[in-house]
Amino acid sequence: MNEKANIKIEDIKYSTDKITRKYVQRTYDNLKIETTYVDYINKHIICFSTQVGCNLGCKFCYNGIKHNFKRNLTAEEISTQIENIIKNEKLNGNKPILFSAMGIGEPLLNYNNLVESFRYLNNKYPNNKFALATTGISLEHILKLAEDLKNINFKLTISLHSAFQEKRNNLIPINADLRTLVNTVKEYEKISNKQVEWNYVLLDGINDTINDAKELFELLGKNEFIKINKFNKVENSNLVESKNLDLFISELKNNGMQVEYYETNGSDINGACGQMIAE
Ligand code: SF4
Repeated sequence: MNEKANIKIEDIKYSTDKITRKYVQRTYDNLKIETTYVDYINKHIICFSTQVGCNLGCKFCYNGIKHNFKRNLTAEEISTQIENIIKNEKLNGNKPILFSAMGIGEPLLNYNNLVESFRYLNNKYPNNKFALATTGISLEHILKLAEDLKNINFKLTISLHSAFQEKRNNLIPINADLRTLVNTVKEYEKISNKQVEWNYVLLDGINDTINDAKELFELLGKNEFIKINKFNKVENSNLVESKNLDLFISELKNNGMQVEYYETNGSDINGACGQMIAE
């Protein structure tokens, strides 16, 4: 292996849920990244990082608050980070693996390396699934994914978090025009023939009113799939988990949207969404 692709496991933190582990890993140039592994009944999930740190400034994310971007991971580093877990957990094909680019970094800002690692992993470990979550920062790359990953079992998730432009700008300071983003995603769905998932972290007093739910329906229309995420507490953030979950979800469902509520595993070891740390 190329010396610079070498990534070593430095520590493993074990969640009390007994199925989640956070791997602290170290690059050849002494940078720290993290990777979360979850051993579900029907699948393994490896939630991996694509960058060391991130500068996009999302208010619900440790790395966004710190503005701590150091560098992109290379394709080999991304694959090594993942294969370290496959080896250490002795994954043997008994159930599918979901390779999920939802750890540290904005994957579309490291596009070529991510696609190269997905193709490598798909060849070496066939019949598994791939996913990526993006703020939608690069519309051009959203469309490119339809072509570049057309032979891979892949799901695209867009982190939305508000259907109001101004609120979204506040939560995700670097982003795209909302209408243009939605049109691009619909175009992606048409070309790829794959449904996109919209991700929405529900925050108390910020984006959780009935009016926010109505605007979400106005923006996306019915039949869209929304995953409502629980907010996981992160250092230096004064955001708080919403208390309006049931009403918000009912409003979306009444409008014909497909909704799922999701609590990320591993919040007790800072391994859940928004909590992983690069240094
Ligand atoms: S949520 Fe993702 S894109 Fe936003 S700051 Fe955190 S790592 Fe970057």
